[in-house]
Amino acid sequence: MSSLRFSILPSLLLAACAPSPDITETTGAESSKAQSESLPASRVTAENLVKWRKDNPSWYAAVAPFRVIGEDGAGIYYVGTEGLGMFLIPTSEGHIVIDGGMPDQGPMVAEAISKLGFDPKDIKILLNSHAHLDHSGGLADLKAMSGAELIASEGDRSALEGGFYLGSEDEDFLFAPPVKVDRIITDGETVSHGGVALTAHITPGHSRGCTSWTMDVEQGGKYYEVLVFCSATVAANRLVNPPQYEGIVEDYRSTFDKTRDWTPDVFLANHPGFFGMAKKRERQQAGDPLAFVDDEAFGKFIVRVEGWFKDALQKQSANSAP
Ligand SMILES: [Zn+2]
Repeated sequence: MSSLRFSILPSLLLAACAPSPDITETTGAESSKAQSESLPASRVTAENLVKWRKDNPSWYAAVAPFRVIGEDGAGIYYVGTEGLGMFLIPTSEGHIVIDGGMPDQGPMVAEAISKLGFDPKDIKILLNSHAHLDHSGGLADLKAMSGAELIASEGDRSALEGGFYLGSEDEDFLFAPPVKVDRIITDGETVSHGGVALTAHITPGHSRGCTSWTMDVEQGGKYYEVLVFCSATVAANRLVNPPQYEGIVEDYRSTFDKTRDWTPDVFLANHPGFFGMAKKRERQQAGDPLAFVDDEAFGKFIVRVEGWFKDALQKQSANSAP
């Protein structure tokens, strides 16, 4: 039995949005105007985006969108780039999107959704893995064009709504467009919409509210458990003196303890390199419909990441020793 299925976790069924009247350009613009009034203005600069693009060309390299797993217009689809993972979960009552990419990539995600034959204006729910600009940056645009509700964790709310990187609030290179969180999700809660259920697993450390998502997807008469992992790398985070945020080291450790035994059938993440997307996609294109199924992939990954964390902690502690 999968270690990701919990029987005793509280489950909050978020009522599916009432079948909405058509979300038109006008309502999207109005709602985004109303929301922007309660948010600070975006401090993202074109100059910084040029730098990000130059330093991370793979983040902007197009990938033809495709279905990872599922059938009959359902399942989970890849709508990201070579270096940044964004995901579409279509339903008969409108769609769910996980992550928006960089601050200027909302339109790119929308275009990928259109290419798959779905309407980006039908996005009803936006989810976020974590509040860092390479994954949350495009959410404000996607929200404005669709009127979708953003569901995120309390730990990441301040950074999403403030448009900053927690603990580096004045670092202009890390700004993202502020985006209003409409609903807070807690560990183990489920977002249910249009017959799809996604469970939130708070896996903090990489960000204070880092949220991983799981769902079951049917293919060929079988259900496969899909994980979209938030991340647990140290990256730009300060672990000590002063920590990026209070409790960050304990958070990383709790995330490794929590996830070490996870064995999802399909491991996905917001950076495709984490789950070896290119090779799996090749196998899929060569005719293997279950190319992304590998219940050992996540375990191997998280052991490596924990090793990196321990090294980083040792290095940062040594560097900051008196
Ligand atoms: Zn990040």
